[in-house]
Amino acid sequence: MGRLDGKIALVTGASRGIGRAIALELAHAGASVSINYLSAEDEAQAVADEIAKFGGKTLLLQANVSDKDQVRGMVKQAVEHFGQLDILVNNAGITRDRSMRKLTDDDWTEVINTNLNSVYYCTTAAMQGMIDHKFGRIINISSYVGQAGNFGQANYAASKGGIIAFTKTAAIELAKYNITVNSIAPGFTLTEMLAKVPANVQDQIKAKIPMGRFGLPEEVAKAVAFLAADGDYITGQQININGGVYM
Ligand code: NAP
Repeated sequence: MGRLDGKIALVTGASRGIGRAIALELAHAGASVSINYLSAEDEAQAVADEIAKFGGKTLLLQANVSDKDQVRGMVKQAVEHFGQLDILVNNAGITRDRSMRKLTDDDWTEVINTNLNSVYYCTTAAMQGMIDHKFGRIINISSYVGQAGNFGQANYAASKGGIIAFTKTAAIELAKYNITVNSIAPGFTLTEMLAKVPANVQDQIKAKIPMGRFGLPEEVAKAVAFLAADGDYITGQQININGGVYM
């Protein structure tokens, strides 16, 4: 028996990195998982194949989470396929790093749309079914940058700080329906997103992390599974998984 047997999850941006690890962790715990991706169909299919190896059920859902109509269509498809939606993990995210002197309006808008507006679109699309079932676990992937700020990431920091504030308000509004809403704030985690940072900058970052290493996607995924399976009385909170880089 898995601790999420019978539960239905949707993970945005699950083709790689942290989202992939979350999809695998939830599926290992027994949940059926909808795997959203933007363009990496082969990688998303590889996640589904890995889950199928241990008998888990998945559905691939291509959709741009920054487009509200695509999000509504995606959630509708997931619910039609599995019958309901119990767990929503808002994970998809991008960076467009530049100092504000060089940041373009498009850099700003694209990051806010993809990282923050998507969380509003997905949550509002998913919540009515959760309200009807009197059960929901919504987990939003923020970042330590949304708490501490970071040079060259005004757009990203604003999107991730916005997620933390949105999470608290959604938690207050949805608590009476037994829907919990929490955020997770990872520190620097070993994925393609971090790989884009130049090696010398990575070394400087690592030197500031008390635990002396970057995080692993699986370490974030474990906290998501905990909130989904055992977080019945945890809502409006934020779990920091950052090796101590921000306390
Ligand atoms: P990643 O390896 O770059 O993967 C990003 C994922 O998001 C991919 O599955 C990608 O799909 C998907 N995606 C991007 N834009 C999308 C869109 N418009 N619609 C749907 N899916 C979209 O990133 P990651 O490092 O795993 O990051 C995952 C989350 O953790 C993000 O929210 C990020 O901000 C947060 N985070 C990461 C770190 C870190 O150090 N890595 C630290 C703190 C927080 P495709 O593969 O199809 O492009």
